[in-house]
Amino acid sequence: MSQHDTAGALDRADELAAFRARFTLPEGVIYLDGNSLGALPRDTPARLARAVEQEWGRDLIRSWNLAGWMDMPTRVGDKIGRLIGAQPGEVVVADSTSINLFKALSAALRLNPGRSAILSEPENFPTDLYIAQGLIGQLGDGHRLVLREPEALLDAIDEDTAVVALTHVNYKSGRLHDMAALTARAHARGALVLWDLSHTAGAIPVDLTAIGADLAVGCGYKFLNGGPGAPAFIMVARRHQERFSQPLSGWLGHAQPFAFTPEYVPAPGIARYLCGTPSVLGMIALEVAVDLMLEVPPAALRAKSLALTDLFIREVEARCGGHGLRLNTPRAHAERGSQVSFSHPEGYAIMQALIAQGVVGDFRAPDIIRFGFAPLYLRYADVVEAAVRLARVLDERLWDTPAYRARKTVT
Ligand SMILES: *Cc1c(COP(=O)(O)O)cnc(C)c1O
Repeated sequence: MSQHDTAGALDRADELAAFRARFTLPEGVIYLDGNSLGALPRDTPARLARAVEQEWGRDLIRSWNLAGWMDMPTRVGDKIGRLIGAQPGEVVVADSTSINLFKALSAALRLNPGRSAILSEPENFPTDLYIAQGLIGQLGDGHRLVLREPEALLDAIDEDTAVVALTHVNYKSGRLHDMAALTARAHARGALVLWDLSHTAGAIPVDLTAIGADLAVGCGYKFLNGGPGAPAFIMVARRHQERFSQPLSGWLGHAQPFAFTPEYVPAPGIARYLCGTPSVLGMIALEVAVDLMLEVPPAALRAKSLALTDLFIREVEARCGGHGLRLNTPRAHAERGSQVSFSHPEGYAIMQALIAQGVVGDFRAPDIIRFGFAPLYLRYADVVEAAVRLARVLDERLWDTPAYRARKTVT
């Protein structure tokens, strides 16, 4: 049997296969970038059209009450909470991940006074580090950002660590942190933990309640498929919520926004993590996508993600040997997210040539070609075909042209 036949058999046996039809995907494209921008759910355009034409166009301001716009941040937040193992009332949808990082880090430092360090790793996603740097500068009271390599993190948590701020899935390598072990060690040493779940939600089931998580944030537009610039989420464990009000004390986080009083009084519970008026259309698109994700059995999602990434690694190694690709992604399942990446000195040009062949992944400096695997709309056959086309790009040196070396703004 050829690899294509084997993949076809896997697709016929795939219990998630029917979900592919719930997305609109461009003809002839193998989309391996759902970790950067998830695909369009089939129900989203009609739902958005109704929101625009009826809720906005006809009912206008009344839709805040009539169409439930006002409740959306907590309603959609609770739905995302079910995907990440948070309790009702612990998650709210608001703002962007960067802004939610600011709120969550502010909370963590206030909840743990007398400790100065935010502990992270040099390869955390840049915005996570930049926001920490901005917050430290703003506070001006001796906080510091301590960066340690992943292997050294457990031992680096000490009595000066206020918060360990990490992204569960490394955006370049796809390597997973052991959330439970790091959280347990942090708590044993009196530190809090902030988990960035941007590459986790919608791809890897996690149980924030079981690990005793303190704080988490994440994106709506990656594996959650909420659309470009979709609103983000923030989770704050119930036990921490009332102890601090975050510094972006906007009116929608007020206990009574429509009392219009001059003094800020934080809302009880997670609502105090709201700031201003939410992006309603963005949240409507996100809710469609989250509702779809809630239909998916979490164990099947994870199993298929690992099977897809296993197959891709195997196929690329079998077909592209001798071309100098270096695997960055851990082979151990417990250490792998839902993406695979390889290093190659000509990575940028290779990815451009591959995109021209209809396989869309992306490039991350300095030399990484990155492939995301969204289990709801990818077939095993797509994975084999992507490796075939990558081998063609390498064998025929299709990348070796100035047009593919010229860097675009978004890589
Ligand atoms: C994608 C991503 C972000 C993006 O933050 P935005 O505010 O949406 O631009 C943040 N953190 C991590 C870890 C990410 O992967």
